[in-house]
Amino acid sequence: MTDLLKIIPQLTIGAVDLAAAFLFMYGLKRMSSPVTAPSGIKVAGLGMAVAILVSFLYGFDVSATARPLLMANIGLALLALVVGGGLAWWSGRKVAMTAMPQMVALYNGMGGGAAAAIAAVELLGNKADGVSQMVVTLFGALIGAVSLSGSLIAWAKLDGVIKQPLRIRGQQIVNGLVAVATLAVGGYIVAVTQGLVTSPVATPELIYVFFGAALLFGVLMTLPIGGADMPVVISIYNAFTGLAVGLEGFVLQNPALMIAGMVVGAAGTLLTLLMAKAMNRSISNILFTNFGAVVEQMQGEIKGSLKPVEASDAGIFMRYAASVIIVPGYGLAVAQGQQKLYELVKLLQAAGVSVKFAVHPVAGRMPGQMDVLLAEAGVPYDMIFQLDDINDEFASTDVALVIGANDVVNPAARTDKSSPIYGMPILNADKARKVYVVKRGQGKGYAGIVNALFYGDNCDMVYGDAAAVLTRMIEAVRALATKAAA
Ligand code: NAP
Repeated sequence: MTDLLKIIPQLTIGAVDLAAAFLFMYGLKRMSSPVTAPSGIKVAGLGMAVAILVSFLYGFDVSATARPLLMANIGLALLALVVGGGLAWWSGRKVAMTAMPQMVALYNGMGGGAAAAIAAVELLGNKADGVSQMVVTLFGALIGAVSLSGSLIAWAKLDGVIKQPLRIRGQQIVNGLVAVATLAVGGYIVAVTQGLVTSPVATPELIYVFFGAALLFGVLMTLPIGGADMPVVISIYNAFTGLAVGLEGFVLQNPALMIAGMVVGAAGTLLTLLMAKAMNRSISNILFTNFGAVVEQMQGEIKGSLKPVEASDAGIFMRYAASVIIVPGYGLAVAQGQQKLYELVKLLQAAGVSVKFAVHPVAGRMPGQMDVLLAEAGVPYDMIFQLDDINDEFASTDVALVIGANDVVNPAARTDKSSPIYGMPILNADKARKVYVVKRGQGKGYAGIVNALFYGDNCDMVYGDAAAVLTRMIEAVRALATKAAA
């Protein structure tokens, strides 16, 4: 009977870990479509909540003497949960849509930092047993620390705290040397702890050096990155964090941590591959060769001129068009113009115009930002098309309305080998019969380059904040309807 009582917590942990793993995977599957994504996030969140709760059953069989320490640790864990959970709840509620990428970078970093902290406790407390466990713990520590410092730099860049990519002469060599030195210190720690060599330096000091070098590597790796590589980098750190958490789950023999880490690691890796494909960069090119090297663009002479038109004229033109494809971009999120945009779309549809949305995979400042923005305004999913599914349609479309987008419709990506976005698949807005571009002025896109589309014969510029321009377009289309009804 007492034996049975003893194994109940163990069985509960096993069963709940399994349930949590199922919830993570099911939640992730639901996140793959914008229709089911909101419920997918809740399902995965529930999985995380039960995984956290069941972790409190670990240590149920400690001896009576170790119990006070266990209770003190549980108290600390609860305090951390309340403080961390409270901060996340507060920051999650108040974050602006345009500041989401910074928040994602910060949370990635926190995950990596947590994994590195677990590894530090294991290493400094001499808890990692044997060579294989030491190696796994050190790898988790390395990846977690790189993800922490790299993500913090990514946050600073996205938040505008660091404004320029910072590069030093021989950057790749310095990065390579720091990486090799970190691995060498790690190897030396394994050799010392296994008694293979005696070190003049105490092991804790070696561990501090190891962490310091890993953090430095994360900083050096991320500082030079600029422009269009940033989204891929954030998703690489997402994958790193997952991997680090999974490795530390293995060290702690915590299945929920292992599975959660591996699921995040795998999802992050897939997202990285998809993002790299969307930007026409290979992962090895991003990681090892051209990491962040943004070629200074030799902008050739651009023919044509910028032709400003009134928002009302553009609105009326679209009202009499047969088909319109809308290309939303980062500026729409800045202006928070999504509701107004959908209002205009409904007016155009009521007038018999066929309207579709074309979404580029890297439009905005984080993966899926445009899908979320349009979903927020209630745009039906069957009106939203991804690049490959709609690109051929531009050529037979009356109007392409480019609203707050720039890099994702820049034809230089097709033709200009010196352009930093050369090779990136773009939306073929320039092929439409008429193009309207809504933006505030001469501002460049994220990649910082001029866009020849704006100078094209078939393109007119509608200057102004996206929300204000849309309001004027709506008024013009409404006025026409009222006139027709009168
Ligand atoms: P973009 O190239 O950054 O261009 C946005 C345009 O919006 C700017 O030219 C700006 O011009 C205009 N704008 C800004 N505020 C506006 C407002 N209130 N009203 C109207 N227009 C406004 O955007 P994109 O075409 O969406 O391309 C995304 C870029 O970001 C790509 O280069 C991508 O690689 C990069 N990126 C993507 C991610 C991701 O995960 N999706 C992450 C980081 C970086 P004005 O200043 O003249 O108004």
